[in-house]
Amino acid sequence: MKIQAGITRRSRTWEQLLRREGLPWRTVHLATGEGLADCSVLIVTHQLDASECDIVEDYLRSGGALLASARHVVGVGGTGVRREPLHYLASDGDGVFTTVRIVDLGTQGDIPREANHLRTHQHHHAVFAGSLLGGPAVLLPFDVQRVLADTRSVYKAFYVHRDRLPTERVSMVSRGEVFQLCHHALEYLHHRRSLPYVHLWYYPGTSPNVLAFRIDTDGAPRYDIDELYDVLNNAGVPGTWFLDVASHEPWLPHFATMMGQEFALHCYEHRIEPDPDRQEAQWARALAMMRLAGLAPLGMAVPFGTWTTGLGGVIDRLGLVYSSEFSYAYDTVPLVPEDLEHAYRTLQVPIHPVSIGSLRRTGATSQQMIEYYRSTIDAHMARNIPLLFYHHPSHRHWDVVDALLEHALLQDVPGVLMGDFAFWWLARARLNVQFDIRESVLQVVNAAAAANARVGIRVSLSATQTLLLPSSETVLLDSRESTVRKIPYVPDDLRRIREPDPRRMLGDLYTRMLRRLK
Ligand SMILES: [Zn+2]
Repeated sequence: MKIQAGITRRSRTWEQLLRREGLPWRTVHLATGEGLADCSVLIVTHQLDASECDIVEDYLRSGGALLASARHVVGVGGTGVRREPLHYLASDGDGVFTTVRIVDLGTQGDIPREANHLRTHQHHHAVFAGSLLGGPAVLLPFDVQRVLADTRSVYKAFYVHRDRLPTERVSMVSRGEVFQLCHHALEYLHHRRSLPYVHLWYYPGTSPNVLAFRIDTDGAPRYDIDELYDVLNNAGVPGTWFLDVASHEPWLPHFATMMGQEFALHCYEHRIEPDPDRQEAQWARALAMMRLAGLAPLGMAVPFGTWTTGLGGVIDRLGLVYSSEFSYAYDTVPLVPEDLEHAYRTLQVPIHPVSIGSLRRTGATSQQMIEYYRSTIDAHMARNIPLLFYHHPSHRHWDVVDALLEHALLQDVPGVLMGDFAFWWLARARLNVQFDIRESVLQVVNAAAAANARVGIRVSLSATQTLLLPSSETVLLDSRESTVRKIPYVPDDLRRIREPDPRRMLGDLYTRMLRRLK
């Protein structure tokens, strides 16, 4: 049996999601049934007509597994939907979607009538996971393609144990959580068919994760930059520095003397130009100055993490390898931005959007900041979210930076440059690997290419047992020692972060004003 998804129609969004997940896919033709038998799971990507519904029903009766937006498969097995606003989905410690916390959607939902997992902001069950006509099915209350094309950004609060929550302007849709949701759906559907779930691993080799530290220099004086460079060197973690070029213009060549670091573009002047052409000219000028100073920028991070469709176009024209803006995505593996019309070119390498500066605005002490990063790192490890954090040198707090790096390194993860991780990810995305399972033998087609690219394989045997392996052509699953997966902790009072708080709203308004003036 091939471990492979079948999609009912070409879909840029689903194809990218599956490529990121590392699960092979093909298109299937529902009208003829061609390709269906070749797939371990069927993903419906369009609204089915009556005869297509019949074919999907037969497929489920034969034990096939189905993942779909509930609306697209209305009528299959007598299912129905109820339309209602869907601000977010929340987990109360779900047994199937174990790593999902809050999936912000901000859309109209189509809640499956039989929903029995996760809950809407109104506390109604939102997702169906169970048996439909004898086959396993997961029905989602939204269309993955539509929500992932939503490019709005908003101020959001992030969870801390303390009363005052840090906030940042980030993407409206939590793309990372949608990814986690789909990952668990695919895993669950394979397990329910008594199949192992196999996909390419998200990090180089068999490393459990990666650690990267991004620095937005934001007008920092040279002594703060040198001190942070020492902190990083002492920890043995290379820094990826995004330069506020105009501020450092007189001593730009100094950066070229810092060893083992990566230098990328933050801005020329620290503001967003309303006119895209002027913005492009500014950034192109800053890149030219960096190159003249002996630096070789591969990436950029727009001030304030801003990403809009207009800026996405400007970034693409700069010809860089990657950019990093949490207004498009945060806390997830890399992805290429897309909207309803098209996909962009430049890879996004998302980070965790809460910086020491954001915590400082809430009045947190150093010890509270350290606790925040420790618990965030633990949660990211359990949820397989990259450990990518950022800092501004003039905010100092070297004790917090040091504790953050130390805690991440305790997890046995390599410190990487963001550019190196981007290159590794792009090579992973080019692989064309196939998985075939017979009894307990896994055959991997093109395993050598994956091994060359340092891409490993994750085999999920059950809800708790997982194998993480280097790529090889034949794997005897019985002969491997599996590791027991930790069930991530979900805080009881998680929904607190989506409750309106006038004090926080005032704070966000103030931040917005400051950023305009800057
Ligand atoms: Zn900045």
